[in-house]
Amino acid sequence: MEKILIVDDSLLQATQLKAIIEDEYNVAIAQTAEDGLRRAHDEDFSLILLDVVMPEMDGFTLLKRLQEEIITQNVPVILITSLADAANEQRGLILGAVDYITKPYIPLIVKARVNTHVKLYRYRRQIEEQSMTDQLTGVANRRRYDRYSLTKWHEAARLQVPFSVCMFDIDHFKVYNDTFGHPAGDKVIAAVAKTISSHLKRSTDFVARYGGEEFVAISMGESSGKMFEYLQKIRQAVEDLHIPHNPKVSQWVTVSIGGVTVIPETGSAYDLHLKIADTMLYDAKKGGRNQVVWADEQLKRKFEKRTKPGVSV
Ligand code: GH3
Ligand code: MG
Ligand code: MG
Repeated sequence: MEKILIVDDSLLQATQLKAIIEDEYNVAIAQTAEDGLRRAHDEDFSLILLDVVMPEMDGFTLLKRLQEEIITQNVPVILITSLADAANEQRGLILGAVDYITKPYIPLIVKARVNTHVKLYRYRRQIEEQSMTDQLTGVANRRRYDRYSLTKWHEAARLQVPFSVCMFDIDHFKVYNDTFGHPAGDKVIAAVAKTISSHLKRSTDFVARYGGEEFVAISMGESSGKMFEYLQKIRQAVEDLHIPHNPKVSQWVTVSIGGVTVIPETGSAYDLHLKIADTMLYDAKKGGRNQVVWADEQLKRKFEKRTKPGVSV
């Protein structure tokens, strides 16, 4: 059942409103704007029904606050109020309310409007979800990665925790396509994505398809040593899928992996960090593929299978 929040200082009015919609929704009541703001922040509501006239913080102010925060700004808000004049209605709608209902209201009309806005919100979330997901693999796409990486980079700088970024690239994939065909190649991309994401599924991990046969992962909180070891496991897991490759290049499908772990300095550029990961990937390719090259906090390289002496970054 989808959740709806009613914010109204009058418990009687809130309860009456709740009675109209509670057969279809899980309805919560907040009796102050502050409590409403906190709950809207902490819980996942599909709609907020907001009274305008309240002591201390009023509904307009709360609406403004909700609109300012990324996490609450998309939740639709319907103002329900006895302020029936056009100026207040205009103010509410300009502030971002999706609808304005004046009291006394007709219950069935309230219910119909609530249903419409919940449905629209559900639809919007579906579209957003799809626009952020790679269709072939089901992992996040580049667009979501672009947003996520920057947010997390700044978060890691603020909290001063290790931030790792990791690039994966399937080895000799052009040859794979040329040998087995593009549809078979697609299946390999999906299988590799599944293996990578099944190993990086903590709330502090994130995996996206970077493009073509390349993936990018972000992980927070682990040291470079741990990450280096763990990525070797993932590399091995891909090899252990035992997907036959063209024997002229390799027995099985494999990936090369490059990454870096740092505790970001405040104000430092994320792009540079990504570029280091990309350089490590390039080294892994150069070193013979199917291997991990990692740069640690001091930007010293660690090679899984060192074939020749490395130069520091
Ligand atoms: P390397 O080991 O150096 O990475 O060699 P490679 O052949 O994998 O590298 P390259 O970047 O030259 O080739 C990538 C290939 O991936 C070329 C392209 O046809 C293929 N590719 C990119 N996207 C897709 C896709 O969505 N499906 C399939 N089947 N192939 C794709
Ligand atoms: Mg590539
Ligand atoms: Mg490749």
